[in-house]
Amino acid sequence: NVRMFQNPVVQDNLRRLQGFGAIVVMPGCGDLACGETGPGRLAELPEIIEAIKSALTVKSLAGKKVLVSAGPTREMIDPVRFISNRSTGKMGFAMAAEAHRRGARVFLVTGPVTTPRPMGVTVVEVTTAVEMRQAVLDLAQDADIVVKAAAVSDYAPAEQYAQKVKKGLVEQNLRLIKNPDILAELGRHKGRRLLIGFAAETEDLLAHAREKMINKNLDLIVANDVSRPGAGFAVDTNIVKLLYPNGRIDDIPLKSKEDVARDIWDRIVELPAQRGPVQ
Ligand code: C5P
Repeated sequence: NVRMFQNPVVQDNLRRLQGFGAIVVMPGCGDLACGETGPGRLAELPEIIEAIKSALTVKSLAGKKVLVSAGPTREMIDPVRFISNRSTGKMGFAMAAEAHRRGARVFLVTGPVTTPRPMGVTVVEVTTAVEMRQAVLDLAQDADIVVKAAAVSDYAPAEQYAQKVKKGLVEQNLRLIKNPDILAELGRHKGRRLLIGFAAETEDLLAHAREKMINKNLDLIVANDVSRPGAGFAVDTNIVKLLYPNGRIDDIPLKSKEDVARDIWDRIVELPAQRGPVQ
């Protein structure tokens, strides 16, 4: 009941419990069974579960600012058509959620997706690669770790038409230009940041991932064969390989994306020791 909850004695007792280290999941706000309205509802189950997961997680990223990009970008051709890809943002969202559980301040720049937002994370929504670049470069300024799990559209239409292009005229009017490579740009101005990339491939997984890791100056790349069942886009599981600049390769077998995110962060928090002196 709202008045029972707001009673100074209850509030004082809650503060005392917190003082002893108890974690309090605050009640939800709304219509109550007794007919009154206000804070007093049982908290939503996902919120309680998240609080428990967070309480059980070692704060290995305390004091760190983490930036994650996720989801596809959408490049408009005309008011009704666009170029995009099958990314749902699930892997990046799992990375952001786990970083938050580990005590980081987390910023998540995402393209258009319907995946539920991770709790406790600041979300910035973008549509195009150009918008994503701006948001990522701004937030990366003082970030300690940047994880680029977004599936950025490689190409955008050279012109965006104000009216729907007539069917027969699409071929003449659809000229593509290359989008900026956000991660490569971050790699050229790396500073003290750790840079983690993702590579979604359908063939020659390791060779392509290694090439991207080197070209983009990354500390780690998560290679993902999106043609395998249980891996890649729009599923809740993944199978990945982690490639390091020194040639080490770690295999992560089929697991939920949440568990894969935990395994990846376990490696990322060990990276500074491996990287040696700051470049
Ligand atoms: O598209 P590609 O396979 O090169 O993507 C590899 C990595 O580079 C991913 O981490 C992706 O988020 C990032 N990327 C980017 N900007 C692009 C293309 C890819 O940041 N325009």
